[in-house]
Amino acid sequence: MASLDLPMREIVESVLKEVERDKDLSYESVESLGFLFDKGLDKAVDIVQNSCVKRVVGETSGREIFQVKARLSTSRRQSKTWQPRQHKPSSDSATKVDEYLVLPFHYCSCHAFQFEVINRGEAFMCKHILAARLARALGKMVTIVVNDDLLAQVLLSY
Ligand SMILES: [Zn+2]
Repeated sequence: MASLDLPMREIVESVLKEVERDKDLSYESVESLGFLFDKGLDKAVDIVQNSCVKRVVGETSGREIFQVKARLSTSRRQSKTWQPRQHKPSSDSATKVDEYLVLPFHYCSCHAFQFEVINRGEAFMCKHILAARLARALGKMVTIVVNDDLLAQVLLSY
């Protein structure tokens, strides 16, 4: 039944390998990833370009986690009857930034991951995981080395 899932993963892995080799997003890579992730790719690239990916590495263990900051979309899927009026009610200024924990590369603390990836199996990667992977492949991230106690605390805080 998972016949669609495996090739997708393989395609993503091979594209990410190319990105890592070239340290660049080629037109072909963007095409392939865009096909698989649609708007998720734009968002992931946006996250990477805004330097919103932070890699936290344990001093002695070498274990790594990623903290990914992303703007919360204000258009939460609510009941269809609820629509904002034409004059946007402070939605622009209320753009919130949230931070998610990404464990490389099979877990994210965001809602989409819990809901779409785990519960429904509709996707296999949320935009934060994609962003973390792209950032790592491109070398575009901030790396912080902390002692392992602190790393454990960060993990527990999510
Ligand atoms: Zn996520």
